[in-house]
Amino acid sequence: MRPYPINFVSIVIPVYNEEDSLPELLRRTEAACAQLHHPYEIVLVDDGSRDDSAHILEQAASRPDSPVVAVILNRNYGQHAAIMAGFEQCKGDVVITLDADLQNPPEEIPRLVAQAELGYDVVATVRNNRQDSALRRWPSKLINLAVQRSTGVAMSDYGCMLRAYRRTIVDAMLACRERSTFIPILANSFARHTTEILVNHAEREHGDSKYSPMRLINLMFDLVTCMTTTPLRLLSIIGFGMAALGVLFAVALVFLRLAFGAGWAGGGTFVLFAVLFVFTGGQFIGMGLLGEYLGRMYSDVRARPRFFIEKVLRSQPASPVSVATIDGLTSTSSDRVHP
Ligand code: UDP
Ligand code: MG
Repeated sequence: MRPYPINFVSIVIPVYNEEDSLPELLRRTEAACAQLHHPYEIVLVDDGSRDDSAHILEQAASRPDSPVVAVILNRNYGQHAAIMAGFEQCKGDVVITLDADLQNPPEEIPRLVAQAELGYDVVATVRNNRQDSALRRWPSKLINLAVQRSTGVAMSDYGCMLRAYRRTIVDAMLACRERSTFIPILANSFARHTTEILVNHAEREHGDSKYSPMRLINLMFDLVTCMTTTPLRLLSIIGFGMAALGVLFAVALVFLRLAFGAGWAGGGTFVLFAVLFVFTGGQFIGMGLLGEYLGRMYSDVRARPRFFIEKVLRSQPASPVSVATIDGLTSTSSDRVHP
């Protein structure tokens, strides 16, 4: 791993009905960024707030020499879409995301930048003394475990949005065309070196969580579909299991009938069960097959870049060896690849 030179730092914050937190957020974030040894910008994305948030952001951005960039979306698109909008507008070599509700302390920004400077593609954080209710903690523990299994990247806290991403990772995420996405997992699918640091986590001081139980369920589906199509394959596996059980049951019935007489077959009722098992299993296998096609179509439709080239080295006849380094990464998305 090589040190990563940073010339500019961007902070991206999604904002949805946070008028009470904004003044303190702006003050603390600017104070934390002033500690950096790099120029910086603070991109705040208003995600269609119904309160005065957009107005406060516009005012902050119109101050002379303000580091604040206000991005106003026309309606509410959700936290992750708002962060993507911020990614599109920011220009830093390192981009830091955090929540607007001050649950993630902005004072940690310099530590994240220092880690990114060491050469990590993604710097994640783990919430020390997490201040959420047990009802929120347990589902997120389960999710972390599932993500760890499926992406192979061991991170202990996917729920914490206080994170740093290197420019190349941000560009890779912007090249993905899927609509529903879960940024920390998407980023990990492009990252090579990742690390985690322990940060404090505060209680929400103003307003309530913007995630109702329904929106949380929606977010979990985004998270699962973002990382894997395994649930579709599970249908086939369940189907095979059921059909095999049905066949075994039928064989056992025949055996019992022959060995111990007609009483053991329950007058034909159990045979019906065996046949039912086989047919239901068959149906599940069929659904699983449909799912396999759907899963493949889904990956084609979202057209994630197949790979990112970091460097191309080629020896030239005129000079002994010339190194052509591409600034940033070159993307080759699947529709631009020719066989
Ligand atoms: N947020 C957003 N759009 C939404 C919901 C939330 O931009 O539709 C922002 C919100 O303003 C906050 C962050 O996303 O900055 C996290 O939201 P919240 O604190 O409600 O989530 P929780 O901490 O409960 O997971
Ligand atoms: Mg919060």
